Amino acid sequence: MLKNEWGAKDPIKNGRSWESLPISLSAYYDTITIHHSGNAKNYMTIQQLQDKEQNDGYADIPYHFAIDSKGNIYEGRPIYIKGAHTAGANTSNIGIVLMSDLDYQNKGLSFEKFLVENYINGNGGASTAMRKSLTNLVSYLNSQYGIQYLGGHIEKINDTRYCPGDGGMKIVNYLRQKFNMQIPIKQ
Ligand SMILES: [Zn+2]
Repeated sequence: MLKNEWGAKDPIKNGRSWESLPISLSAYYDTITIHHSGNAKNYMTIQQLQDKEQNDGYADIPYHFAIDSKGNIYEGRPIYIKGAHTAGANTSNIGIVLMSDLDYQNKGLSFEKFLVENYINGNGGASTAMRKSLTNLVSYLNSQYGIQYLGGHIEKINDTRYCPGDGGMKIVNYLRQKFNMQIPIKQ
């Protein structure tokens, strides 16, 4: 779904990162990084995701694509704008977020947060429709840009949060094998 179809707000560009990319995106992109939205709100809507990220100081959704539990694929940050999803490692890197909490083990959380996420918010999981749409999207992006590396957020950079969670990493490993892609070089 394109941004005008899901009712996106305009990007907030003043003072926030918003970098146009080279014309030849197929020469530019070689990596896909998979994220999950985590447990701020399980199964958040695309509008809630944009609000959250803009409140957190981003110009727009930091990921290029978002996929919900029904398998809808949403345009996030336009593909011709540099992503803001993997701190310090966004060059040549397409970001996709699965809008669910896929961290069943709730790794990297304080005990207090662990309790909230494990017992109050719960874990969402990835529906069949979500996984199918992700597979189709990766296939499409590979045909458009020629993707060499595909990985989870924590494979690309070290982070305190275990993104996209143990459930998300299973999906990453499946996709990597299916499309014969490599583990990204950690930055
Ligand atoms: Zn992430």
